Amino acid sequence: MGSSFAFEVTHTDGRARRGRMTTPHGVVETPAFMPVGTQGAVKGVTHRDLDDLGAQILLSNTYHLYLRPGDDLIARRGGLHRFIGWTKPILTDSGGYQVFSMASRRTIDEQGAHFRSHLDGSPHLLTPEKAVDIQAQLGSDVAMVLDECLAHPSEAEAARASMERTLRWACRARERFLAVQAGMADGVTVSNRAQAQFGIVQGSVFPDLREESARQTVAIGFEAYAIGGLSVGEPNPVMYDITAQTTAVLPEDRLRYLMGTGTPADLVESVARGVDLFDCVLPTRNARNGQLFTREGPMNIKNAKYAEDDRPVDPSCDCYTCRTCSRAYLRHLFAVNEMNAATLNTLHNLHFYLDTLGAIRDAIVFGRFESFRVSFHQSFSRQPHDS
Ligand SMILES: [Zn+2]
Repeated sequence: MGSSFAFEVTHTDGRARRGRMTTPHGVVETPAFMPVGTQGAVKGVTHRDLDDLGAQILLSNTYHLYLRPGDDLIARRGGLHRFIGWTKPILTDSGGYQVFSMASRRTIDEQGAHFRSHLDGSPHLLTPEKAVDIQAQLGSDVAMVLDECLAHPSEAEAARASMERTLRWACRARERFLAVQAGMADGVTVSNRAQAQFGIVQGSVFPDLREESARQTVAIGFEAYAIGGLSVGEPNPVMYDITAQTTAVLPEDRLRYLMGTGTPADLVESVARGVDLFDCVLPTRNARNGQLFTREGPMNIKNAKYAEDDRPVDPSCDCYTCRTCSRAYLRHLFAVNEMNAATLNTLHNLHFYLDTLGAIRDAIVFGRFESFRVSFHQSFSRQPHDS
């Protein structure tokens, strides 16, 4: 096990930040994108593929791993890194998002989220403390607090009550985290002695609630801070404004993680507003549905016009898929439901996301982020953003 958690900003360009997150399993150059490995694997690709793509950190889902194969089993294997054979950093979510998504199978009260497994209907209770314990057993490098995920749209009153509950849960989660890390929690195997814990800012689309949530969460004191509850159906300009208002309240010297976002354009716009870390299922899920991201915008490989198109998906892309496969071949693989279709499409989309983040990092270092941003939008959406 290497050094403990640290973060430093190495360059700034406007509000965009180039930084370095140090974890027990290595360094993550930021801004960074985390591929989502829901069940301890990114669907369709191996860890070797992810290494080749330059993935620096994976996200895994606590809800799924808790139900199968179980955090006890993973702890007995020495933690998630050893169990899945991934030696670089891992961030785990709290499990809350999946539980909150199952509206008919769960009830929420002050104690936590009572839910029934989507697998066998068995009853479970996910509390702020339980989310800490599970993630300690998984041994991820970064653990997230359990927050209440509110549906959009929400009234201001409901959003305030939810934001305040998330703060109370954050206090409980931090207290439990410190006890667990100090070895004072019986029955919990701590698989990573240098795990970090991130707090989550909530408050829906209300700037005053976001500001209060950010200030109070920072007052509790976490290694870094995430912005939750966005990308849930609100218009893009609202998401960008809330992101900008929230990062303005968060401390300059702490990493900022925008959860569950988003499109390539969202990533560029969020970096412009001071975000350092992202995760999203979009590149991997869309790949499996035949949607490929290119520098000239999204492409649907199912389209009949690609049936005899011998060009690569993106002539300017140097990923394995674009170096070896034509659009015609990829369309054929998709049409016949060949599993290689998912693999090849996922390789390209993840390469596009990771390569875009690499270009963003370079642009910030050289003080050229603003021109990168303009040319990215001109090429990708052909509709330059004006904010
Ligand atoms: Zn490619």
